[in-house]
Amino acid sequence: MSARSIVMGVGLAVFWVLGVCVSHQGWSDDGKAVKEESPPATDNAEPPAKKTTKKSSPATSKRNAAGAKSKSMPANAEDKPADDAVAEKDAGKDKEFDADGRRVTLPKSNGEWKKLLTPQQYQVARLKGTERAFSGKYWNNHKDGIYRCVCCGEPLFSSETKFESGTGWPSFFAPLQDESIKLEEDRSLNTVRVEVQCKRCDAHLGHVFADGPAPTGNRFCMNSASLKFEEAVGEKQSKKNRKTPRPAAK
Ligand SMILES: [Zn+2]
Repeated sequence: MSARSIVMGVGLAVFWVLGVCVSHQGWSDDGKAVKEESPPATDNAEPPAKKTTKKSSPATSKRNAAGAKSKSMPANAEDKPADDAVAEKDAGKDKEFDADGRRVTLPKSNGEWKKLLTPQQYQVARLKGTERAFSGKYWNNHKDGIYRCVCCGEPLFSSETKFESGTGWPSFFAPLQDESIKLEEDRSLNTVRVEVQCKRCDAHLGHVFADGPAPTGNRFCMNSASLKFEEAVGEKQSKKNRKTPRPAAK
Protein backbone atom coordinates (compact mmCIF):
# COMPACT_ATOMS: atom_id res chain seq x y z
CA MET A 1 0.00 0.00 0.00
CA SER A 2 2.57 2.37 1.11
CA ALA A 3 4.69 1.56 -1.92
CA ARG A 4 1.71 2.11 -4.25
CA SER A 5 0.79 5.28 -2.54
CA ILE A 6 4.39 6.43 -2.86
CA VAL A 7 4.38 5.55 -6.54
CA MET A 8 1.06 7.34 -6.98
CA GLY A 9 2.37 10.26 -5.01
CA VAL A 10 5.49 10.43 -7.11
CA GLY A 11 3.42 10.03 -10.27
CA LEU A 12 1.10 12.85 -9.21
CA ALA A 13 4.06 14.94 -8.21
CA VAL A 14 5.71 14.35 -11.58
CA PHE A 15 2.42 15.06 -13.36
CA TRP A 16 1.97 18.24 -11.37
CA VAL A 17 5.55 19.33 -11.99
CA LEU A 18 5.16 18.67 -15.71
CA GLY A 19 1.88 20.58 -15.76
CA VAL A 20 3.45 23.51 -13.98
CA CYS A 21 6.42 23.37 -16.27
CA VAL A 22 4.19 23.33 -19.35
CA SER A 23 2.20 26.25 -18.10
CA HIS A 24 5.41 28.09 -17.19
CA GLN A 25 6.90 27.23 -20.54
CA GLY A 26 3.93 28.92 -22.17
CA TRP A 27 4.66 32.14 -20.31
CA SER A 28 8.38 31.89 -20.57
CA ASP A 29 8.12 31.12 -24.30
CA ASP A 30 6.26 34.36 -24.86
CA GLY A 31 8.71 36.20 -22.70
CA LYS A 32 11.64 34.68 -24.53
CA ALA A 33 9.99 35.23 -27.88
CA VAL A 34 9.85 38.97 -27.23
CA LYS A 35 13.31 39.20 -25.77
CA GLU A 36 15.19 36.95 -28.14
CA GLU A 37 13.48 37.46 -31.45
CA SER A 38 13.00 41.21 -31.52
CA PRO A 39 16.69 42.25 -31.45
CA PRO A 40 17.87 40.09 -34.41
CA ALA A 41 16.88 40.59 -38.01
CA THR A 42 13.36 42.01 -38.39
CA ASP A 43 12.42 39.50 -41.12
CA ASN A 44 12.53 36.56 -38.71
CA ALA A 45 10.95 38.54 -35.90
CA GLU A 46 7.88 39.59 -37.85
CA PRO A 47 5.57 36.61 -37.15
CA PRO A 48 6.23 36.59 -33.36
CA ALA A 49 6.03 40.35 -33.33
CA LYS A 50 2.45 40.08 -34.65
CA LYS A 51 1.64 37.67 -31.85
CA THR A 52 3.08 39.96 -29.22
CA THR A 53 1.17 42.93 -30.62
CA LYS A 54 -2.04 40.98 -30.10
CA LYS A 55 -1.15 39.92 -26.58
CA SER A 56 0.96 42.76 -25.29
CA SER A 57 0.48 46.51 -25.26
CA PRO A 58 0.66 48.48 -28.53
CA ALA A 59 3.79 50.13 -27.19
CA THR A 60 5.91 47.19 -28.34
CA SER A 61 4.46 47.36 -31.83
CA LYS A 62 5.29 51.04 -31.91
CA ARG A 63 8.83 50.23 -30.86
CA ASN A 64 9.04 47.60 -33.58
CA ALA A 65 7.67 50.05 -36.08
CA ALA A 66 10.15 52.64 -34.89
CA GLY A 67 12.89 50.07 -35.19
CA ALA A 68 11.80 49.28 -38.72
CA LYS A 69 11.79 52.98 -39.59
CA SER A 70 15.17 53.55 -38.03
CA LYS A 71 16.45 50.64 -40.10
CA SER A 72 15.13 52.22 -43.28
CA MET A 73 16.54 55.65 -42.34
CA PRO A 74 20.22 54.73 -42.81
CA ALA A 75 19.45 53.99 -46.47
CA ASN A 76 18.40 57.64 -46.93
CA ALA A 77 21.23 58.82 -44.73
CA GLU A 78 23.63 56.99 -47.00
CA ASP A 79 22.30 58.94 -49.98
CA LYS A 80 22.98 62.32 -48.38
CA PRO A 81 26.67 61.76 -47.71
CA ALA A 82 26.95 60.49 -51.28
CA ASP A 83 25.50 63.80 -52.56
CA ASP A 84 27.86 65.73 -50.34
CA ALA A 85 30.75 63.75 -51.68
CA VAL A 86 29.72 64.62 -55.23
CA ALA A 87 29.42 68.30 -54.29
CA GLU A 88 32.85 68.21 -52.73
CA LYS A 89 34.25 66.63 -55.85
CA ASP A 90 32.66 69.34 -58.00
CA ALA A 91 34.04 72.06 -55.77
CA GLY A 92 37.45 70.47 -55.92
CA LYS A 93 37.54 70.40 -59.72
CA ASP A 94 38.93 73.93 -60.01
CA LYS A 95 40.96 74.16 -56.86
CA GLU A 96 43.44 76.34 -58.74
CA PHE A 97 40.81 79.09 -59.10
CA ASP A 98 37.99 80.09 -56.77
CA ALA A 99 34.32 80.55 -57.73
CA ASP A 100 35.03 84.12 -58.88
CA GLY A 101 37.79 83.04 -61.23
CA ARG A 102 40.68 84.25 -59.10
CA ARG A 103 43.72 82.08 -58.63
CA VAL A 104 43.56 80.78 -55.06
CA THR A 105 47.28 80.49 -54.34
CA LEU A 106 49.70 82.98 -55.87
CA PRO A 107 53.20 81.78 -56.73
CA LYS A 108 55.95 83.53 -54.82
CA SER A 109 58.70 83.28 -57.41
CA ASN A 110 59.11 83.77 -61.14
CA GLY A 111 60.15 80.15 -61.38
CA GLU A 112 56.72 79.09 -60.17
CA TRP A 113 54.97 81.55 -62.50
CA LYS A 114 56.96 80.17 -65.43
CA LYS A 115 55.36 76.76 -64.92
CA LEU A 116 51.87 78.24 -65.08
CA LEU A 117 52.23 80.55 -68.10
CA THR A 118 53.12 80.26 -71.76
CA PRO A 119 56.60 81.55 -72.65
CA GLN A 120 55.11 84.74 -74.12
CA GLN A 121 52.77 85.31 -71.17
CA TYR A 122 55.70 84.82 -68.83
CA GLN A 123 57.96 87.14 -70.84
CA VAL A 124 55.39 89.93 -70.90
CA ALA A 125 53.58 89.60 -67.58
CA ARG A 126 56.45 88.60 -65.30
CA LEU A 127 59.47 90.09 -67.10
CA LYS A 128 57.82 93.35 -68.26
CA GLY A 129 58.04 92.52 -71.95
CA THR A 130 55.89 93.97 -74.74
CA GLU A 131 54.14 91.98 -77.43
CA ARG A 132 54.47 93.16 -81.03
CA ALA A 133 51.70 95.52 -82.16
CA PHE A 134 48.79 93.79 -83.97
CA SER A 135 50.12 90.40 -82.89
CA GLY A 136 48.07 89.81 -79.75
CA LYS A 137 44.78 88.01 -79.31
CA TYR A 138 42.68 90.96 -78.17
CA TRP A 139 43.60 94.18 -79.99
CA ASN A 140 40.82 93.41 -82.49
CA ASN A 141 38.47 91.61 -80.11
CA HIS A 142 35.00 93.22 -80.12
CA LYS A 143 33.10 90.73 -78.00
CA ASP A 144 31.41 91.72 -74.76
CA GLY A 145 33.05 90.51 -71.61
CA ILE A 146 35.76 91.13 -69.10
CA TYR A 147 39.52 90.90 -69.29
CA ARG A 148 41.18 89.18 -66.36
CA CYS A 149 44.80 89.12 -65.33
CA VAL A 150 46.33 86.16 -67.13
CA CYS A 151 48.35 85.36 -64.02
CA CYS A 152 45.95 85.61 -61.10
CA GLY A 153 42.49 85.91 -62.69
CA GLU A 154 41.70 89.33 -61.19
CA PRO A 155 39.04 91.12 -63.31
CA LEU A 156 40.84 94.17 -64.72
CA PHE A 157 39.05 95.62 -67.75
CA SER A 158 35.64 95.51 -69.41
CA SER A 159 34.71 95.53 -73.08
CA GLU A 160 32.55 98.55 -72.17
CA THR A 161 35.63 100.75 -71.84
CA LYS A 162 37.56 99.25 -74.77
CA PHE A 163 38.07 101.52 -77.74
CA GLU A 164 39.81 101.55 -81.13
CA SER A 165 43.16 103.15 -80.47
CA GLY A 166 44.72 102.09 -83.76
CA THR A 167 47.87 101.09 -81.88
CA GLY A 168 47.58 97.32 -82.32
CA TRP A 169 47.23 96.76 -78.58
CA PRO A 170 43.97 96.31 -76.67
CA SER A 171 43.17 99.77 -75.27
CA PHE A 172 40.77 100.88 -72.56
CA PHE A 173 39.89 104.31 -71.21
CA ALA A 174 39.44 102.98 -67.65
CA PRO A 175 39.99 99.87 -65.57
CA LEU A 176 37.08 97.95 -64.09
CA GLN A 177 38.15 99.14 -60.65
CA ASP A 178 40.95 101.51 -59.75
CA GLU A 179 41.70 99.24 -56.80
CA SER A 180 42.56 96.34 -59.10
CA ILE A 181 45.57 98.01 -60.68
CA LYS A 182 48.62 99.90 -59.50
CA LEU A 183 50.73 102.44 -61.37
CA GLU A 184 54.52 102.58 -61.32
CA GLU A 185 56.88 105.08 -62.88
CA ASP A 186 58.79 103.44 -65.74
CA ARG A 187 61.98 105.21 -66.84
CA SER A 188 63.11 102.58 -69.35
CA LEU A 189 63.64 103.35 -73.08
CA ASN A 190 64.90 106.85 -72.16
CA THR A 191 61.40 108.10 -71.46
CA VAL A 192 59.16 108.42 -68.46
CA ARG A 193 56.06 106.30 -68.75
CA VAL A 194 53.50 105.02 -66.31
CA GLU A 195 53.50 101.27 -66.03
CA VAL A 196 50.24 99.47 -65.20
CA GLN A 197 50.45 96.42 -62.99
CA CYS A 198 47.92 94.00 -61.54
CA LYS A 199 47.66 95.03 -57.93
CA ARG A 200 47.00 91.49 -56.76
CA CYS A 201 49.96 89.70 -58.33
CA ASP A 202 52.22 92.47 -59.66
CA ALA A 203 51.87 91.26 -63.24
CA HIS A 204 53.05 93.75 -65.87
CA LEU A 205 50.01 94.70 -67.97
CA GLY A 206 51.18 97.62 -70.09
CA HIS A 207 51.26 101.41 -69.79
CA VAL A 208 48.76 104.23 -69.41
CA PHE A 209 48.95 107.43 -71.43
CA ALA A 210 47.06 110.68 -71.17
CA ASP A 211 45.92 110.75 -74.80
CA GLY A 212 42.77 108.61 -74.40
CA PRO A 213 39.16 109.42 -75.21
CA ALA A 214 36.42 110.83 -72.97
CA PRO A 215 35.32 110.47 -70.30
CA THR A 216 38.69 109.82 -68.65
CA GLY A 217 41.19 110.98 -71.27
CA ASN A 218 43.33 107.99 -70.37
CA ARG A 219 44.56 105.26 -72.67
CA PHE A 220 45.38 102.03 -70.94
CA CYS A 221 47.58 100.36 -73.54
CA MET A 222 47.62 96.70 -72.55
CA ASN A 223 49.32 93.55 -73.74
CA SER A 224 46.99 90.75 -74.81
CA ALA A 225 49.52 88.33 -73.35
CA SER A 226 48.84 89.72 -69.87
CA LEU A 227 45.08 89.35 -70.21
CA LYS A 228 42.58 86.51 -70.34
CA PHE A 229 39.24 87.36 -71.97
CA GLU A 230 36.02 86.00 -70.50
CA GLU A 231 33.02 86.42 -72.78
CA ALA A 232 29.93 87.99 -71.14
CA VAL A 233 27.43 85.34 -72.31
CA GLY A 234 29.22 82.60 -70.42
CA GLU A 235 29.45 84.77 -67.34
CA LYS A 236 25.73 85.62 -67.41
CA GLN A 237 24.86 81.95 -67.77
CA SER A 238 27.04 80.93 -64.89
CA LYS A 239 25.54 83.70 -62.75
CA LYS A 240 22.04 82.46 -63.62
CA ASN A 241 23.00 78.94 -62.74
CA ARG A 242 24.36 80.06 -59.42
CA LYS A 243 21.70 82.49 -58.26
CA THR A 244 18.27 81.66 -59.73
CA PRO A 245 17.60 78.43 -57.78
CA ARG A 246 18.14 80.11 -54.39
CA PRO A 247 15.76 83.11 -54.69
CA ALA A 248 13.13 80.87 -56.34
CA ALA A 249 13.16 78.71 -53.20
CA LYS A 250 11.83 81.65 -51.11
ZN1 LIG B 1 47.18 89.46 -61.41
